[in-house]
Amino acid sequence: MTDQPTTTETTTDLELAHDWLERADSLFLTSGAGLTAAAGIDYGDTELFARHFPGMLQYGVRAQYEMIGRPPTDEALFWGYWANHVNLVRHTWDRAEPYDDLHRLAGTFDDDEVFVMTSNVDGFFERRGFDPARIHTPQGDYALMQCETPCTRDVWTWKDELDAMVDATDPATQRLRDPALVPRCPNCGGPVFMNVRKDASFIDDHWRPAADRMAAWLRERATGNGLIIEIGAGFNTPSVIRWPGEAITDRFEGWRLLRINPTHPDVPAELGERAHGVSTDAGAFLRTLAG
Ligand SMILES: [Zn+2]
Repeated sequence: MTDQPTTTETTTDLELAHDWLERADSLFLTSGAGLTAAAGIDYGDTELFARHFPGMLQYGVRAQYEMIGRPPTDEALFWGYWANHVNLVRHTWDRAEPYDDLHRLAGTFDDDEVFVMTSNVDGFFERRGFDPARIHTPQGDYALMQCETPCTRDVWTWKDELDAMVDATDPATQRLRDPALVPRCPNCGGPVFMNVRKDASFIDDHWRPAADRMAAWLRERATGNGLIIEIGAGFNTPSVIRWPGEAITDRFEGWRLLRINPTHPDVPAELGERAHGVSTDAGAFLRTLAG
């Protein structure tokens, strides 16, 4: 125990990450909510919430995650909240250094050597310069709307309606001043919600081409030396990002998995030295890694 190496754990992690990046002929970037949290939007952050949604505090709501799954019992409040939530996280938030760092890392590879899969519905990868044709977002996108029923498989953008709702929101109550702005399905007149996977009503037809492109890309590169860098994907919905990354690494013998996760960095023992977990702040680690 007296001859411990003097390098810190972080230095070792970084050396390993640099080494794996140098050896890799494919880069598969996968991420969960932890990546956007590293960009400053943490759905559990009560200070962020109080700053952006002060009108919600009187209803006993303290954080963004508490609004996930809330039923629209009061539609003027429901859309007064959601329009502003989506406006903040999908359209106006402009500090996203961890995504910029990943974009720089990806820039050291050829375009066709990189693919992205994220459970985040905030569009940050595309907004920070990644090719949308090379991004798979299996959980949907806040920028799109769908019928709740759904009566049609169509999805549509709703930025103009969102802007009008944001303008009409009373910050003291978070309610829409004009209830006529509550969005409705243009086909059946029924309730709508963003095109995000929350239950069986989720429409994913338009996401399938990206899923197919990703599957084809993985098949092409299965025998190479791919590297998966997974950031901030914990156990909320592990079947979306975390477990597929482990399964791919298990199946593709030349691939490696670098998991960056401050709370759940553990990797399956059966992956041996081809998987490594880094239990550190993703933002700081990516900043140093992208150098
Ligand atoms: Zn409808």
